[in-house]
Amino acid sequence: MSSEGKETTSSIRKIIHVDMDAFFAAVEQRDHPELRGQPVIVGGDPAGRGVVATCSYEARRFGVHSAMTASRAKSLCPQGIFIRPRMDAYRQTSHQVMEILQSYTSLVEPLSLDEAFLDVTEATSNGVLAVQIAQEVRTRIERETGLTASAGVSYNKLLAKLASDWRKPDGLMVIPPERGLSFLAPLHVSKLHGVGPATVDKLAQLGIHTVLDLRNASQQTLVSHFGKLGLWFGEIANGIDLRPVQPNRVRKSVGCERTFQTDLNDRQDMMTVLIEMTERVSSHLYALGLAGRTVSIKVRFPDFKTVTRALTVSEPIWRLEAISAVLPTLLARAIPSERGVHASVRLLGVALNGLVNTEANLDTVDQLSLLDEIAPNGETP
Ligand SMILES: [Mg+2]
Repeated sequence: MSSEGKETTSSIRKIIHVDMDAFFAAVEQRDHPELRGQPVIVGGDPAGRGVVATCSYEARRFGVHSAMTASRAKSLCPQGIFIRPRMDAYRQTSHQVMEILQSYTSLVEPLSLDEAFLDVTEATSNGVLAVQIAQEVRTRIERETGLTASAGVSYNKLLAKLASDWRKPDGLMVIPPERGLSFLAPLHVSKLHGVGPATVDKLAQLGIHTVLDLRNASQQTLVSHFGKLGLWFGEIANGIDLRPVQPNRVRKSVGCERTFQTDLNDRQDMMTVLIEMTERVSSHLYALGLAGRTVSIKVRFPDFKTVTRALTVSEPIWRLEAISAVLPTLLARAIPSERGVHASVRLLGVALNGLVNTEANLDTVDQLSLLDEIAPNGETP
């Protein structure tokens, strides 16, 4: 392809989303050949309260997926092979993958150990196609790490990520600009970035099920029901996502939040959920070698009003007990007394901010966020 016609295409970005397939489980199967072809489940102890971090495709056939409790995974797949995460091995492989990505562009934004966006707009200005880069990246990853990755190519992050998911595992998918709207139209709204289960329910009540329904909804309707998020929904429904690829994004917080199918109105239940999430956050901090001084919680009420309350302690903390100690105070502050003792909430979140490294020898991969795949075994030392 020549650079003629660049006038019209120069404003169109070329974004690649690269996502390793079943990363933690794939590393285990690579390093332990006897695990190949087996339902491997990496995460917490099925006898304890841990959750699944990643599982092999063989385990997925039984309905096992990440974030479900390990005990549930065990009941779905009794023959599953449960393995504790080896974060060091995953970090090392992640580092290799990120180095391959960085050899194509400096505009690489890692989202977790096994996933990153690349902006190859500049790298394709000499006529090389983004899809060629994506294919080469996949080939090199497989050759150099022995693992497969899927890639999606499109003109923004939203579509590149949807594309990489489309032909998983070991897949490659391109969504060119002229196909963006038609690709999105039939998708269920739950596929969209930022649309969680409670929002799906609320959209369904408005008769909005597919992205096309969302596109046809008025901006006024969306904003009146979802506030600022409504504006975002309107944009992404139209394939508009201007978020840049940010290579130097520094992790500012580690957190976890959950939206409930049914609002919670019991303080004890709220504390239980907060502590469960804190366990994940704590493991996550440990895996990243980070600790933070500020603990915050987020509460969203049924009317979508959202409050955040934070408390700063004197030393950076990461252990479950230390973080949990301030939760009752924060929860009491977050729920104003005028809402009453039976105030219900639709979302709870907990996060650590003001992060510092707890290890001296951190390499760059340690700085990465670990959004989906973590080691939440609750048995931090
Ligand atoms: Mg992945």
